[in-house]
Amino acid sequence: MGYRITLIPGDGIGPEITDVVKNCIEATGVDIDWDIQEAGETAIEKYGTPIPDKTLKSIEENKVCLKAPLTTPVGSGFRSVNVYIRQHFNLYVCLRPFKFYEGVRSRYNNIDIIVIRENMEDLYAGVEFQQGKEETEELIEFIEKRTGQRINRDSGISIKPISIKNSERLVRFAFEYARKNRRKKVTAVHKANIMKFTDGLFLDVARKVSQEYTDIVFEDRIVDNMAMQLVQKPEMYDVLACPNLYGDILSDLCAGLVGGLGLSPGANIGEDIAVFEATHGSAPKYKGQNKVNPSALLLAGVMMLDYIGENKRATQLEQALADVIKEGRYLTYDFRDPGDTNYVGTREMGEAIISKIKR
Ligand code: NAD
Repeated sequence: MGYRITLIPGDGIGPEITDVVKNCIEATGVDIDWDIQEAGETAIEKYGTPIPDKTLKSIEENKVCLKAPLTTPVGSGFRSVNVYIRQHFNLYVCLRPFKFYEGVRSRYNNIDIIVIRENMEDLYAGVEFQQGKEETEELIEFIEKRTGQRINRDSGISIKPISIKNSERLVRFAFEYARKNRRKKVTAVHKANIMKFTDGLFLDVARKVSQEYTDIVFEDRIVDNMAMQLVQKPEMYDVLACPNLYGDILSDLCAGLVGGLGLSPGANIGEDIAVFEATHGSAPKYKGQNKVNPSALLLAGVMMLDYIGENKRATQLEQALADVIKEGRYLTYDFRDPGDTNYVGTREMGEAIISKIKR
């Protein structure tokens, strides 16, 4: 029986990479009935909203979605359509694998790190108090009265909530992922020495959950030290469990270790819904030029195949991409040194990947 999966071709370079990735996924022989839906700028023109109800309903029904980058239109009333989708479906985990593929231009050649980032709270909760507003002054007064701590009157304030519930399910996800994927170590990232009631809580929960997984090594790192260690000895790290903000920053650091965002997929996962995406944006300046790298969305497709249980096909597709990168003949411009014009287009790279799929 085939799978019904929501496919959002998105904006800018989205449709052209989606086209290539869809063909590559289908070339593995998997039977997918794509439910094609609109979001982002494309949807605004037609429905007056960047995230139409029809699209949300499709994700809700199909439970699995592959999403190309979306442009967040300025003044649409949404901070980010991507953030909206995560919050609407309570997709509390952001899973980001960072792997070095032989042939990629990078300073490192031994990276295989998974960042598991909390997706719902921390400084991303969106609880903010604008400088100068009456409620902000009231809050400052309340804090001074209750704690004796003085806060400058001309401050803006962002609130950082971190809960036991979200920390526990995030850390548990990290350990379950490690166990299922034969990973050896989970590292909890925090700044508990300074933020005792938020990061400290996250660390306490992580330590407690780790006791249920004695087959997996557990350790913790303070986030600034973590950043330095990832640059100095990334081969020491395996699965990182992070609160939202640190996960965001360390994800980009790790993307830099493996050759950039063009090779970095992501998955946003909740209880029973998952949205797979390329983590780069819609790169509007390259729209329609058959120029950009389809690898990030393709690797999101690999993660999606794994998630739905098509593990063999996922491995075949990832291996085909790895073979094309290693061979080095059919690669897009971003794999080359600046000024090197020996590159191919998105479609040609896609065709090379299809030719390498060993079914
Ligand atoms: P961007 O990632 O779209 O592009 C920045 C630069 O990165 C591009 O100019 C290009 O040089 C390079 N690049 C990006 N993807 C590439 C690829 N696949 N192959 C080769 N090179 C690639 O970031 P931006 O310009 O800051 O954002 C453009 C739009 O995308 C904005 O509207 C933003 O809101 C949106 N955005 C969406 C997502 C998402 O949907 N997940 C993520 C980030 C940004």
